[in-house]
This record gives sequence, C-alpha cells and structure tokens, in this order.
Amino acid sequence: MPEKTNWFTINQVDDSTWILSEYRHWEETHCYLLCGSRRALLIDTGLGICNIQEEVCRLTDKPVTAAATHIHWDHIGGHKYYPDFCAHRAELSWLQGGFPLSMEAVRAMVLDRCDPPEDFDIQTYQMFQGMPTRLLEDGDVIDLGGRAVQALHTPGHSPGHLCFWEAERGYLFTGDLVYQDTLLAYYPSTDPQAYLQSLEKIAALPAQRIFPGHHALTIRPELVCRMRDAFRELQAQEKLCHGSGLCDYGDWAVWL
Ligand SMILES: [Zn+2]
Ligand SMILES: [Zn+2]
Repeated sequence: MPEKTNWFTINQVDDSTWILSEYRHWEETHCYLLCGSRRALLIDTGLGICNIQEEVCRLTDKPVTAAATHIHWDHIGGHKYYPDFCAHRAELSWLQGGFPLSMEAVRAMVLDRCDPPEDFDIQTYQMFQGMPTRLLEDGDVIDLGGRAVQALHTPGHSPGHLCFWEAERGYLFTGDLVYQDTLLAYYPSTDPQAYLQSLEKIAALPAQRIFPGHHALTIRPELVCRMRDAFRELQAQEKLCHGSGLCDYGDWAVWL
C-alpha cells in the first residue's frame, strides 16, 4: 500500500528501493531512492514545493547522493538539501545561471495545475543552482555498497540527460526520455535525432522494470521498443525534426 504524506506518495518497490511521487501537481513527478549498504542514491529530487529530505530521512539513515536525470526545474527542486550531487557536463551551465527560461516562466509552470500546501509561497521559489560534486560520463558507475547503478548518457529531451541502469535488478530509470504521456522534443534544447539514438541504446537493455520521471508507474519494457520503432519510422519519413508537431500513438505521443 502506498503511504501518503501531506505532499508525497511513497511506494516501496523492494526492500531497499522506494518511489516518492508528487501527485498534487499535474506532472506527477517521481523520485527514486536506492539504498546500498554504504550509501543511498536519490534519482531526481522533485518539484521543490515540499521538503523531500524529511521523507528520505525516514526511509534511510545512509548518506545520500542526489543525481538528477537532467537539469529541469521539476527534477532538481530538492537538490538544495543535497550538496553531494552528480550531473552531466552538458548541463552545467543550467546550474550556473544559463537556464534558457526566466524565473517568472518557471514559477508559472510550478503553479500550473498544482494544489500546493497553504504555506507555500511561489515568490520564494527558486530554480536550484550549484556545482556538482561529481560529473557523470556515459557508463560511469555509482557504487552504493553491494549495489551498483550505471549512468547512461541519453540526450534528446535535454543535452545532458541521464538514464540510470541497475543491471542486477533489471531496473531502468528513464527520467523524461521515456514516460507514458506526451514526450517533449520540440523546444530548442531538445534534439530529436539524439532522442532516437538514446532510445536505441536503452531499448537494447534487458530491462525488467521501467521507472519513469512522470505519470504512470506501470510502463512495460515493450513500450520503450515501440517508442524506438516509432522514432525510426519518423526518421525514415524525414519527420524526425523540430516542427513536425504532435505525433500521437494512442497510449503515448511525441511533440516535435
Ligand atoms: Zn524535462
Ligand atoms: Zn520532467
């Protein structure tokens, strides 16, 4: 049974893995806590509307490293609680004043279809900025003690997007590269061609469970293969580029 706090919904996956979800915002963002014998990894830290650290502290007493799948505001909201965090070099500038949207635009997205707690003050909301303690390259392994998680550089949705792959359990954490809704590949910092290459890369993995950055938690690995096939088809039709618009496949879509 999921446990609901005032803001987060917490689901336990196995004896050392949890999902922290934010269903009171339309994006339904998911963060993942993976505990090893020596340390824990928090994949994405959410919207930053409520304090994720308070929830994480109840689940583990291990030191926690944060790793965002990418530097979009809805995945780094709780980074302020985790000075030990990893990122990919390609998005460093977004952590240091170079994010291509204004704070006003970000605040508008935070409040969009959101049911915040009474004491939440949007005027104090800031997009996290800081310097990572570790830069992750494609293939780098994060050792949690008896548990190893590999970072895979999977650009497309954003230039430094990372998926995280835990081969031993067959867990694939896909961030915003794969979730079951409309995938976003239309804004200038997206790259539809790189998106296809990233889908090729993760579709080849023997994943048992897909853990997305947003929305349904019931994604089956075959969806990743269908997305890859659809991207291949768009490529063949020379539509895999910005401006192709919304391509709808029934249970998912991509906006190019
Ligand atoms: Zn994103
Ligand atoms: Zn996102």
